[in-house]
Amino acid sequence: MLFQIPKLLRGAGSAFLDLLYPPHCTLCLCKTTAGEHLCATCRKKAPVIRAPFCDTCSQPFPGQIESAFLCPNCRERHFEFTCAVACYQSRDGVREVVHRFKYNGKIYLRHVLVDWLAETLKDPRLQTPACDRIVPVPLHPTRERERGFNQAHILAEGLARRSGIPLAHCLKRIRYTTTQTIFDREERMENLRGAFQLRQSAQVRNLHLLLIDDVLTTGSTVDECARVLRDAGAASVRVATVARA
Ligand SMILES: [Zn+2]
Ligand SMILES: [Zn+2]
Repeated sequence: MLFQIPKLLRGAGSAFLDLLYPPHCTLCLCKTTAGEHLCATCRKKAPVIRAPFCDTCSQPFPGQIESAFLCPNCRERHFEFTCAVACYQSRDGVREVVHRFKYNGKIYLRHVLVDWLAETLKDPRLQTPACDRIVPVPLHPTRERERGFNQAHILAEGLARRSGIPLAHCLKRIRYTTTQTIFDREERMENLRGAFQLRQSAQVRNLHLLLIDDVLTTGSTVDECARVLRDAGAASVRVATVARA
């Protein structure tokens, strides 16, 4: 009986919260079951990346290709990471949920984003060799103070909890870089040089690392992170993001 009291109270509390904030889909506002922030219809509409796609950066290719292939961008460029995996395109509902999470401070949407991120672990490219550590892309402390959180860290934490792969907070951002969007590729790389550093006492030697960010755009940021990790002796660096631009 004693054990039932807190349970009852909890039940009453959550019923009360449901009255105040009825559970609804963050995108279409329809009613959902408690704890669900996206309805089944909106989940189904999320733009999935289907084969064929680039082996390195997961850029989908419109057409018929049976064998593994590289997109023109990856063919002419060397990346420090082995591959970048995302299961969704950053558009429509996916883009909207990422945006609300990141810029409107709707932290509870992490549950939806971690669902999408966790799907990358089924990709054979992330299964062999097994990932030893999950590493979030760091934000500069000033940026993190402005935003109140590091979106990559929250997602990496969720993925670590779900997969059982330990989280390793082993990078730090030492330079506050200006926004990347105004630069071309060369300038972007130049702008990022020296932006990241290995944290003191971080051990990455001989480990297979999985780097986490919210969205992959050009790959320049994760590439620079991967360079630092590889220089520190990481056996390999792969990348997983919720979505790909
Ligand atoms: Zn919906
Ligand atoms: Zn590619």
